[in-house]
Amino acid sequence: SGILYLVPTPIGNLEDMTYRAVKVLKEADVIAAEDTRNTMKLCHVFDIATPLVSYHEHSRQNREDQLIERLLNGETVALVSDAGMPAISDPGQDLVKRCVEEKLKVVPLPGANAALTALIASGLPTDMFAFVGFLNRKKKIKHEQLEQWRSSRETLLFYESPHRVAATLGDMREVLGNRNAVLCRELTKKHEEFLRGTLEELQKHCESAPLKGEMVILVEGRTGEESNEEEQWWEGLATADHVKV
Ligand code: SAM
Repeated sequence: SGILYLVPTPIGNLEDMTYRAVKVLKEADVIAAEDTRNTMKLCHVFDIATPLVSYHEHSRQNREDQLIERLLNGETVALVSDAGMPAISDPGQDLVKRCVEEKLKVVPLPGANAALTALIASGLPTDMFAFVGFLNRKKKIKHEQLEQWRSSRETLLFYESPHRVAATLGDMREVLGNRNAVLCRELTKKHEEFLRGTLEELQKHCESAPLKGEMVILVEGRTGEESNEEEQWWEGLATADHVKV
């Protein structure tokens, strides 16, 4: 039977496309792409003539069935997303799960990924880290999600869009305490930038001069020093005037 290749694509700089990625895309029977128009441009640059089909997770169950069918018939399918690694905050996970269930071969290619690229230049510990990706947009759910990471010692890796970044940095400070963080912007591109500071400093920076472009937020894991920033358990208890002793 066929093979599903998971093929990373550049996150900004086209020169990050690997030789192997180009070869696999050229030789595949079909490229399943998150956005075919976007991938068409990439194919044009690298002279890849392989036919494209669109693949969005969740929205098209029958598209997935069609790809599985093709794989069972012995075809080679290459999955790409708009940028970076498929299946990392991008479609792919469900298709891979189906392939595993169907005992189809899955071959991953290494390549560009925004979170890891940011991490290695951040200056924060790289020995233990947790990829969180995008937080929920709703403040209440976002706070609940952040709560889950409050006691983790791992460096935390988040994706965020530029118009929500200031608010999210504020939410992080509220829930995690005023930790050290790094905002990594426009990785691999002309205006690549690393902003380092506390969550509060970064939030102020974003509020005073709104940032554009794609960004990764990295937050230091729990060091134990945050406790003075956080509300103590006894705060707000028993001191109210109406409490008679
Ligand atoms: N699959 C991709 C990967 O492997 O990194 C991630 C896709 S996710 C839909 C897009 C998010 O990744 C952006 O909102 C941003 O947080 C981050 N991102 C992608 N490219 C980036 C870049 N060049 N610089 C900084 N962050 C980037």
